[in-house]
Amino acid sequence: MTSPSSPELDATAIIARDLIRFDTTNYGEGKSNGEADAAEYLNVKLTELGLQPELFESAPGRVSLVARVEGRDSSKPALVVHGHTDVVPAQAEDWSVDPFEGVIKDGMLWGRGAVDMKNMDAMIVTALQDILGSGQQPARDLVIAFFADEEAGGEYGAHYLVDTHPELFAGATEAISEVGGYSVSLNGQRAYLLQTGEKSLVWIRLVAKGRAAHGSRYIRDNAVTRLAEAVAAIGRREWPVRLTDTTSQLIAELARILEVDPQTAGPDDIVLATGTAAGFIQASLRTTTNPTLLSAGYKHNVIPETASALIDIRTLPGEEEQVLAEVRELIGDDIELQIVTQDVGLETPFDGPLVDEITRVLGEHDPGAPVLPYMLSGGTDNKALSKLGITGYGFAPLRLPAELDFPGMFHGVDERVPLDALVFGRQVLAQLLLDY
Ligand SMILES: [Zn+2]
Repeated sequence: MTSPSSPELDATAIIARDLIRFDTTNYGEGKSNGEADAAEYLNVKLTELGLQPELFESAPGRVSLVARVEGRDSSKPALVVHGHTDVVPAQAEDWSVDPFEGVIKDGMLWGRGAVDMKNMDAMIVTALQDILGSGQQPARDLVIAFFADEEAGGEYGAHYLVDTHPELFAGATEAISEVGGYSVSLNGQRAYLLQTGEKSLVWIRLVAKGRAAHGSRYIRDNAVTRLAEAVAAIGRREWPVRLTDTTSQLIAELARILEVDPQTAGPDDIVLATGTAAGFIQASLRTTTNPTLLSAGYKHNVIPETASALIDIRTLPGEEEQVLAEVRELIGDDIELQIVTQDVGLETPFDGPLVDEITRVLGEHDPGAPVLPYMLSGGTDNKALSKLGITGYGFAPLRLPAELDFPGMFHGVDERVPLDALVFGRQVLAQLLLDY
């Protein structure tokens, strides 16, 4: 392991590593280790730059932080640059390193959050250090936000701040954050994916009720059986491909780069030809309905009265009601459907000054690599900011080696980010904030 004082370790890696060492695990449904220590750490970093961050505690330990940076031209709309400090749980026994140690090996920083998204949190800090530390100012006002609770939908983080302190984001029209801006390898050609859309999120619970009885009885009204049938029907459903503006444009660009004829190859074939990127692009072409949790029973010889399941539904923007109606039909009348969490989908055109500037800056730092739009199959805090009319993009720039399955490491095991990608990200971000 490299020591913290090692001269070759960039400050971005050091800050990302420090953040990984705060175990900010978010278990969902309000259960969390909290983000207070990470927020306090970032508070110190931003205060050192002469900023005046404010901390907001939505519930005990659930701390978010927001700071304004004055730009050279305050008449321009402000840009929100945001990250989240919580992470999803990590099962240490599945990892080859301690997920909360912040190990540095093989030229990479390893740990829960190295990908999602303590890497970008650190890049935001060091990009600001580059700008403010050299006596410069960003082109426009920035709202720097580090949110709690993104991994559980942001109720204690972004949604809380948007609902209770909308003035923090006054004058802002656009935002940049995670899950986009990193490179993928298409036929050996490096390309960057800028996230310009997010699918909608509908998390539901199915509840089946039946007759509780001894496990030896002849019972046709078994809650577990009925639930299992509903879960299988939803899980097996093949949702049709439907292209949106974003995915049509992406597929056309992919076909061009991969030299496939879009007349003969379907969208799925074109996406499959992208290699590691296929895993997450495929899910952006259609609705997905994945059963994720089952709960029933308490003893081998007791038929339980109730059985329940959680289903993670991600629809294309605007299709929520239609999909819910179809799900109701699939499960039938005798299963209760509860909506646990619902949030909007987003889609914004792949053009305009910010997209142009991102493309230009990436072109300067990695000449010749195309920038393509894509729709995220998951969601980010941009959903919360959209309630204030703020258009969000996924742009956490990283130039990555072709063989690294970066998208596959979101919420995965052995999350790791190359150290030189962090330096690249810091430089691209600093340049963008200086110029845009
Ligand atoms: Zn994230």
